[in-house]
Amino acid sequence: MQASDRAPALTPVWTPRRAGASLVAMSGTTTCPGCGLRLPASGLPPDPRRNASPECWQLYGEVQGFALHHLGLVRDLHQLTVDAYAAQHAPREVDGDLPAISVAYALVGLQLALDRGASGGEVRAAHQRMGRPDRSWPRLATPARSGAMTVFDVAAAGAMVDSVAGHATAVRAWAAAVWRAWAAEHAAVAALADRLLANTTDQPPSEPCPKPRH
Ligand SMILES: [Zn+2]
Repeated sequence: MQASDRAPALTPVWTPRRAGASLVAMSGTTTCPGCGLRLPASGLPPDPRRNASPECWQLYGEVQGFALHHLGLVRDLHQLTVDAYAAQHAPREVDGDLPAISVAYALVGLQLALDRGASGGEVRAAHQRMGRPDRSWPRLATPARSGAMTVFDVAAAGAMVDSVAGHATAVRAWAAAVWRAWAAEHAAVAALADRLLANTTDQPPSEPCPKPRH
């Protein structure tokens, strides 16, 4: 089932709660440009810095908020959640010559976690060692379809029913689906990770590390 098919069944707690939202805006739905998730419109303006509807971004925040109350989810799955969301909301058009930094970080994170079994802490350490993108990094083409699951599935299995185990299972399945959607770039991402991480082992970064945009 497509996540969008379930959108009308959203419980009121997940309805955007912005007091100033107009009735006109509240009456429609939005479709997230990154993941395709349809949710009731909140009236919030889209943020041009991210390829996500404001409603999808808000739901992602709610999912992260649920996880923050559970130490095991924070420790084991926070990084995977961040990387899955960023990879699923990669921009279709890339400005300039450099890949979007958040996307490259996210894909290397998914590769390390899902193909190599790295922990969240290990992925974060790898991100710190990656440095800034330069022209040697591959241009990673965003797939036309970003996976059959969305952050809505994580919310439905976890936060909406107060299930830590459901959240954990859904995050892993969602991240795996997103990573599969990027199959055409798996080899390029693995090569990038190998090169960047092999060259920087045990060496501190020469300048403050950029933080991925989340
Ligand atoms: Zn989305």
